[in-house]
Amino acid sequence: MAQFDILIVGGGHAGAQVAISLRQRKYTGSIAIVGEEAEYPYERPPLSKDYLAGAKDFGRLLIRPAPSWAERNVDLVLATRVTQVLPADHIVRTQNGDLIGYGQLIWAAGGYPRRLACRGSGLAGIHYVRSRADVDRMKAELGDAKTIVIIGGGYIGLEAAAILSGLGKQVTIVEAQPRVLARVASEELSLFYQAEHESHGVAFRLGAGVEALEGAERISGVVLATGEVLPADMVVVGIGIAPAVEALEVAGAAVENGVLVDGLCRTSVSDIFAIGDCAAHENSFADNATIRLESVQNANDQAMTVAKHLTGCDEPYHAVPWFWSDQYDLKLQTVGISTGHDQVVLRGDPARRSFSLVYLRGNSVIALDCVNATRDYVQGRALLGRNLNFPSGQLADADIPLKNFA
Ligand code: NAP
Repeated sequence: MAQFDILIVGGGHAGAQVAISLRQRKYTGSIAIVGEEAEYPYERPPLSKDYLAGAKDFGRLLIRPAPSWAERNVDLVLATRVTQVLPADHIVRTQNGDLIGYGQLIWAAGGYPRRLACRGSGLAGIHYVRSRADVDRMKAELGDAKTIVIIGGGYIGLEAAAILSGLGKQVTIVEAQPRVLARVASEELSLFYQAEHESHGVAFRLGAGVEALEGAERISGVVLATGEVLPADMVVVGIGIAPAVEALEVAGAAVENGVLVDGLCRTSVSDIFAIGDCAAHENSFADNATIRLESVQNANDQAMTVAKHLTGCDEPYHAVPWFWSDQYDLKLQTVGISTGHDQVVLRGDPARRSFSLVYLRGNSVIALDCVNATRDYVQGRALLGRNLNFPSGQLADADIPLKNFA
């Protein structure tokens, strides 16, 4: 039986980063990453952007060049899924029945795309966007697809729509909520992005339920709950992810929409940590609510928290949440978490396609969404959590740099 001092389950951003950080911090024990995909760790954000567009080769997505893992003495066990965790024995079992022993287990298994369960969801031509293999399958069929229905108006759906409409496809987005980006953005931002997509020819069906997918063997149409049938040569589904925590839950870890972790990313089971998309943690930037953050930033920062802890430096996770989204020539940069805001201040002019939204709760700035406004994004970070000692209306003057308020 193979045995490692540190066994990392998941070869995404979080899993790769914790191995890299451990070696950077001179950790000398044995480390292995077990990854379900066959690929060396790679960056996921380009999957719905440049990689889908064919503008970036897979080689440029690799988090580190392939040989560097062996150079750092990190074993990669690829195309392997951990199906069982036996904490009393410090052993995991893989889908092949192989056993791997660990001293410390770092669970960085991320999440699985939520699947459609309606009639017809097994037809050919229905695609998800989570892995390189998903996008390769979609790209192989794109040449024959003229009319594409995207189910889900989150970041996957919108970024894919920008690329696919740019490739000349006729795109319709079907979203269950009354507006796009409902889970992550304010109504102001949702409406701006909807209008932007419409100006590129993308159509929307909002507040719309999908009743069925129809076709002989291959998809030909999406049936909405209203009875409307949207013709489709291809369907792209981006309806969120479900955290990959089943094996940990069975092993006895406390789970609540993700594995519960403390400030050092420790689960309730000794010698098992969890980081990244699957880790539910108390977040001070979300009013201390227990949340999962599905972002590269969170994956990297939680990885760093664990790497530090395992090398003798306890610094509880307290990273400012940020992320970005590229659609057309718009760069959205978000810092903080806007959930629970009671006031939004607009800086700049959406019509000029450069503006920011500053979110306040009471007198305190809790988040910023900056569209083609990197200066606000950079300077606005310093405002997070601060109590304003001036009228919030002054924030609306885009000629006053945000650093003046810090
Ligand atoms: P998402 O952000 O959760 O958005 C999915 C949307 O689809 C939600 O509004 C959801 O509504 C809706 N929906 C759910 N079921 C539906 C149905 N049957 N029909 C129509 N709409 C439905 O998830 P995502 O866009 O799939 O993204 C997946 C993950 O990738 C997320 O973690 C996301 O943050 C990440 N990602 C991030 C970026 C970025 O940061 N730039 C880019 C791409 C992907 P409900 O809320 O009601 O379920």
